[in-house]
Amino acid sequence: MTDVVIVGGGPAGLTAAAELAGAGLRVLVFEREAAAGGIPRHSDHPGYGIRDMRRFVSGPAYARRLVDRAVAAGAAIRTGAMVTGWAGDTTLEITSPEGRQRVEAGAVVLATGARERPRPARLIPGDRCDGVYTTGQLQNLVHLKGKRVGRRAVVVGAELVSYSAVLTLKHVGCETAVMTSTYPSPESYAVFTVAGRSPFLGVDVATRTKVVRIIGKPTLQAVELEHLDSGERRVVECDTLVLTGDWIPDHELARSAGLVMDAGTLGPLVDTGLRTSRPGVFAAGNLLHPVDTADIAALDGRHVAGRVREYLRGAVESAGGVRLLVDPPLRWVSPGLLRQGDEAPARRLLLWTDELVRVPTVVARQDGRVIGRRTLPWPASPGRVFRVPSRLLTRTHPAGGPVTLALS
Ligand SMILES: Cc1cc2nc3c(=O)[nH]c(=O)nc-3n(C[C@H](O)[C@H](O)[C@H](O)COP(=O)(O)OP(=O)(O)OC[C@H]3O[C@@H](n4cnc5c(N)ncnc54)[C@H](O)[C@@H]3O)c2cc1C
Repeated sequence: MTDVVIVGGGPAGLTAAAELAGAGLRVLVFEREAAAGGIPRHSDHPGYGIRDMRRFVSGPAYARRLVDRAVAAGAAIRTGAMVTGWAGDTTLEITSPEGRQRVEAGAVVLATGARERPRPARLIPGDRCDGVYTTGQLQNLVHLKGKRVGRRAVVVGAELVSYSAVLTLKHVGCETAVMTSTYPSPESYAVFTVAGRSPFLGVDVATRTKVVRIIGKPTLQAVELEHLDSGERRVVECDTLVLTGDWIPDHELARSAGLVMDAGTLGPLVDTGLRTSRPGVFAAGNLLHPVDTADIAALDGRHVAGRVREYLRGAVESAGGVRLLVDPPLRWVSPGLLRQGDEAPARRLLLWTDELVRVPTVVARQDGRVIGRRTLPWPASPGRVFRVPSRLLTRTHPAGGPVTLALS
C-alpha cells in the first residue's frame, strides 16, 4: 500500500508528485514511456516553465527539472510501466516488462494528458499511406529517435502547436508548403502568423481550408485541399502531412473507472479541487483541459496535491456543488463543478471557444439572473485556451442551479 499513485509522469503528474512527496507522503508515479517528462521531453524549443518555475526554458530542460524535483522530494518514478486498469476504487493494475502487478493506494491522481486526434478520427478520405503524422509522432521520431521525415510538408492547423511542428520540420530539412486552418483567421497569436510568413519559415496559412483527399501509395505524394466557402479544390504536392491540434484527453482510465465524464472536455468531470466523482480519485493537467500550456498543467499538479493531502487526513468531501456549463460558441469550461470554499486551480477558469471574439464579454447566469459579467482585454480565439478570472463566479449561490457562461 502506498499513499498516492500518480498515473502519468508529465508536468501535472510530476509536479503533484514533488509536492506530495515533499510533504512526507509515499508517492509512486507510473509512466508508460521509457522516461518521465511528458510532452515537453520531445518538444525541443523554448517556451516552458513561465508560470510555475518563473523561467523560460526548452521542453527537454523543463522535463529534466520536473523529474529532478520529484525525485529529490522522494517520489519513486516507474518508467515503462503502463497503468492498464482498476482492481478496486483506488487499486490499479500495471503492466510492464516485469509483468503485471497491482498497487493499492490511499489516493490516485490521474495525469494522463491529451493527444492529437489521428487521421482515422478526423475522417480524412483517400489513400492509406506512409508519411502522415501528428505533431506528437513527428517530434517523437525526430527529437527522441533521431529520424528524418520527408522534404515537403503540409501542416493541418495553425495553432501554437502547429508552429512547433513547422519548427521541427525545418530542423530536419523539410520545408512546409502550406498550413491549413478551417477558421477565417489563423488560431495562433498574430505574432506567430507574422513570424511564420517571415523568410525564416516562409509559410502561409490557407484559411477556411481543409484536406479532402490523401494521395499516394505506398507513400504520400500529395494532398487535395478544398476551400470551405468557394468549394474550390487544389492539389499540393508533399511527402509529409502533419495533423496538429484537435485534441482529445487520454481518458481511457477515467472512463474504465466509470467516473462521471464531462461532455464538453471529454475528460473526467472535476470540481474546483480537481476531485473526480469517485472519492480518493483526482485528476490534473491536460486530461481535464485539452490543451493548455505545461505550466498550467503543473499548477494543476500543485493545486491537486493540497486537496489529496486533505483527503488523506480524512477531510469529508462536500456533496453537491454547482455545475458550470457553457453556451456556444464556447465548447467547454474546466473545472466543471464549483464547490463552496474552493478556488479554481490557476485562479482562472479555462474555456475553449469555436469562434474568434476579439473583445469578449463573458456573462455568468444562474437561475435566470446575471451573477457576473467581465469584458476581457484578451481575445477568445479557437485553438487555444481562453482564460477567465474565477472572480466572475463570486456571486454564485451555492444552493442554486447550474451556472452558464456565455460570450456577448
Ligand atoms: C508540440 C507541442 C508543443 C508545445 N509547446 C509548449 C510550449 O512551448 N510551452 C508550454 O508551456 N506548453 C507547450 N505545450 C503543451 C504542453 O506540452 C502540455 O501542456 C503539457 O505537457 C501537459 O502536461 P500533462 O502532464 O497534463 O500531460 P503530458 O505532458 O501529456 O503527460 C502525460 C503523461 O502520462 C503518460 N501516460 C498516459 N497514460 C498513461 C498510463 N495509462 N500509464 C502510464 N502513463 C501514462 C504519458 O506517457 C505522458 O508522459 C506543447 C505541446 C505540444 C504537443
